[in-house]
Amino acid sequence: MEKDSEGEYLNPGKKTIDYRADRGSEDPRTPNSEVSQEWKGWKEQSQQRKLKYFIPDWDDLVDPRYDFENERYSNSTGPDDRGSGGWENEVFAHQIYDTPSYDGILVSREVLHKSKKKKKALEELADGNGGVHRYLRVPTNFPVMGDCGAFGYVDQEEPPYSVDDVLDYYTRHGFNYGISVDHLVFGADDREGQRYRYDLTLENAQEFYDKHQAQGREWVPMAAVQGWNVDSYVQAAQECVAIGYDYLAVGGLVKSTTVEITSVLEAIRDAVGDDIRIHALGVARFASIRDFLRIGVTSVDSATYLRRAWTSRKDNFWTRDQRVYSAIRVPGPKRALRSAAKKQAKEKAKKRGMSPEEKGALVDEAVEAHLRERLVRSREMEQECFDQLRAYGNRKTNAPSVDDLVELLDQYQGYVGRDCLREHYKATLRARPWERCDCAICERDGIEVVIFRGNNRNRRRGFHNTRVFYDLLGQVLESGESVTIRRGVNAEPELFRTGMS
Ligand SMILES: [Zn+2]
Repeated sequence: MEKDSEGEYLNPGKKTIDYRADRGSEDPRTPNSEVSQEWKGWKEQSQQRKLKYFIPDWDDLVDPRYDFENERYSNSTGPDDRGSGGWENEVFAHQIYDTPSYDGILVSREVLHKSKKKKKALEELADGNGGVHRYLRVPTNFPVMGDCGAFGYVDQEEPPYSVDDVLDYYTRHGFNYGISVDHLVFGADDREGQRYRYDLTLENAQEFYDKHQAQGREWVPMAAVQGWNVDSYVQAAQECVAIGYDYLAVGGLVKSTTVEITSVLEAIRDAVGDDIRIHALGVARFASIRDFLRIGVTSVDSATYLRRAWTSRKDNFWTRDQRVYSAIRVPGPKRALRSAAKKQAKEKAKKRGMSPEEKGALVDEAVEAHLRERLVRSREMEQECFDQLRAYGNRKTNAPSVDDLVELLDQYQGYVGRDCLREHYKATLRARPWERCDCAICERDGIEVVIFRGNNRNRRRGFHNTRVFYDLLGQVLESGESVTIRRGVNAEPELFRTGMS
């Protein structure tokens, strides 16, 4: 792997970041700050897609020059400094690939404001200084949709934002689409509470639209549509169309089944006619694509395939031949040993009925003893796992067999107190799915992409998954044929014949 010459990049953590700088990789404070190109050919293809896919932004960034072998960021100043991530030193998925893996980005205000640093960055870029596009490093005509992030305040009595405030917020940051202020109906305990949130969402939609029109705002207003059953959803959609909206954002469906989602969207489509655009919030799923097409859903968003790269126990890596594989865990030894020792000590303390002080002392002692006994050996085993995985990934002549490699992984995981998904790992290793993918990440980083470890591997795998989802979505849009995902571990053994060792 290419390494930067020592000290080429200063550690931006200790410097003031110039969010407005667009001096490209020359600027050591923001080496990845270029706003991406226009993606001309891709843009036409994206516009022709009947169902648009938006990715919700959750600070999904990786260091493009991350050093996997030494586990260091590219702004590391030496062997004792791991370096750091962050906006200034990392890139978004659309900066790694030639073209984006989504037709737009959805930015939630709640998510955005969770980070003080991000809030500050956005504030600096507001009012004509590049706005949210500059932050996301996309051209200004790239579709960026805003919502308030109602999940973040679902437990509060009222949304924390007023309509006036949100209108200004979308304008100041240069959003292309803005969704009215909603309050999740399913967050209420009883029907009365649900009704209150339902009415509030509709009143907000009315005020939002009226003021948007009166003030001549330039972005596209979208109505948040909520409900508790098909009829209430339909009624809300009809009211919003009567207000004047031609783009509805149907929310609160994330916890519903695929069948329920389909019936709500279908009933809304029947009620509002073909000229109204419909966005289904948070529900992009392979199983629903064909239904969405039939119903004429305009756009969807979901981060599921990105995030399951590391949130799912078994399903972490999707492929274009419609399989899903497990990533291979090589946990950091210190953390794994610590949590194993903690767990054991806590159980012991409970059995003995210890006081909180006694328990605390026992846990501290157990962690220390466990690390003392096992850390050195764990680190050797960990390194051996990495070496053997890389030998296997690079098809070295001394590479281990799949069985031997899984045995080694099992021994290491057992030693640090974790379970090993032996059969799943075997399927992943035999299929070598990273070799069958021509995305820039798999081509460059190879087997690192299927190793479950740290942001730079896990999120890269998420970027790959998003790419696969977008490609398969495009395939369904063209052919009309559905996508059925099967677990690699259950796939036919013939598939593995070529990859067997
Ligand atoms: Zn890939």
